[in-house]
Amino acid sequence: MAYRTDALFRDDAYLRTADAVVVAVNDRGGIILDRTIFYATSGGQPGDTGTLERADGSLIAVAATITGETKDDIIHVPPPEQAVPEVGEPVKLALNWQRRHLLMRMHTACHLLTVVCPFPITGASVSEDDSRIDFDIPDAGFTREDVTARLMELVRADHPVFVRPITDEELAANPGLVKSKNVRPPVGTGKIRLVCIGENASIDSQPCGGTHVKSTGEVGEIHIGKIEKKGRENRRFRIRFGPMPPA
Ligand SMILES: [Zn+2]
Repeated sequence: MAYRTDALFRDDAYLRTADAVVVAVNDRGGIILDRTIFYATSGGQPGDTGTLERADGSLIAVAATITGETKDDIIHVPPPEQAVPEVGEPVKLALNWQRRHLLMRMHTACHLLTVVCPFPITGASVSEDDSRIDFDIPDAGFTREDVTARLMELVRADHPVFVRPITDEELAANPGLVKSKNVRPPVGTGKIRLVCIGENASIDSQPCGGTHVKSTGEVGEIHIGKIEKKGRENRRFRIRFGPMPPA
């Protein structure tokens, strides 16, 4: 059965702790809560890790967070051999914030790359030290130096990043908002998160359910690690943290 967890990270990606109640434990030991700050693996962003603290102070580790039947069905997966909480038990949630913040910075950097390279996206994957986006372009004509310089202009300008909810109808009226060729934003729920960059979304806006930093300056220094050719009309861009190493 599909549960419906209140996903607190959608309204505030900066929550590091929260209180919740155990709603269910599935047959594989996955823990379902009434509310959570743990992002579940989706849209190329990996799920969160962290801990659930029980009333006696003991900790249950969360090794992964995944979705069940729907995106609101959020399952906290403990490593094998962990104690299992009781249904109805209160727990205190704590994220592995250091990792999540790196993912938020990287995920936001991916949005910036789609501004610099405005081409259809065929795949993307975010991780805490390296991310990649595959673009449908016959010949990049880009160098990693150029793309890095343009990314860093956007970072240094410290543009605001914010979420604007839109309706299915607004999205249908603006199909250009969707940059991914094969991933469609979930429609039919009546609410879609449009992630906007810049005053009045002047830099970018696109539907996205992930977690982002609140301004582009918080992304920090990044560079393009590599531009790889993946087939005749596909280029894979890799983003890494830090300054570009000397060639
Ligand atoms: Zn996003």
